[in-house]
Amino acid sequence: LLSKRLQAVYQMVDKHTRVADIGSDHAYLPVELLEEKMADYAIAGEVAPGPMSRSKEDVEKFGLSDKIDVRLGDGLAVIKANDLIDTVVIAGMGGILIQSILTRATSEQLSNVKTLVLQPNIGEPLVRHWLVENNFAIVDEDIVEEDHHVYEIIKAQKVTAPVVLNEAEFLMGPILMQKKTPTFIAKWQHKLNGYHKAVANMKHAKKIDQEKIDVMNQYIKYIEEII
Ligand code: SAM
Repeated sequence: LLSKRLQAVYQMVDKHTRVADIGSDHAYLPVELLEEKMADYAIAGEVAPGPMSRSKEDVEKFGLSDKIDVRLGDGLAVIKANDLIDTVVIAGMGGILIQSILTRATSEQLSNVKTLVLQPNIGEPLVRHWLVENNFAIVDEDIVEEDHHVYEIIKAQKVTAPVVLNEAEFLMGPILMQKKTPTFIAKWQHKLNGYHKAVANMKHAKKIDQEKIDVMNQYIKYIEEII
């Protein structure tokens, strides 16, 4: 039922959790989590009324209405403290939107949340920055390719000690850098080629932007050190 990307997100959710899937759209993920008895309870949160009412019908069709609450609302506003949500999933959106949803969450909405599973379509470093600044340690990461697009999945857990990442880790992902899967290598090899080309073009430009060239060269250095 799940796409390769959503399957990778699913794999990151711990057993017997109470999950809020924010921006759930069709609610595929919570339905699968409850069908497979991975999660004990789920909220499918959606800001758009259309997908929300369709999800409600699907949840009823699967006979899961007592275990999945489909709620209309912006970001984590669908979560109340007595829902005892311990895991929040935000998948299939840009990093800027994920970061903004997390930034707007209140301490009440995050009070019981121990685990975040985030799958930005783009802008992964922004998401890692939010995690570090809010005491969430990255405990697992995955990278999958589907329909010529590469997706990264980041799992993080609330910790008390300060979390530290270096620039290369923000860019490429601390766990992905260790796993170095073929998909990871292919992604960064492709980016590396792009940066090399960009630097060559910039050096031939009429007005040389040295600052931009320095940034690109820094990325090239990080990538070459890792792959
Ligand atoms: N999470 C699903 C997945 O990964 O397949 C659906 C991804 S879909 C591309 C993004 C969904 O997020 C859309 O249905 C959109 O309406 C919803 N969305 C966007 N901003 C939101 C917000 N602030 N709060 C809740 N949902 C939001």
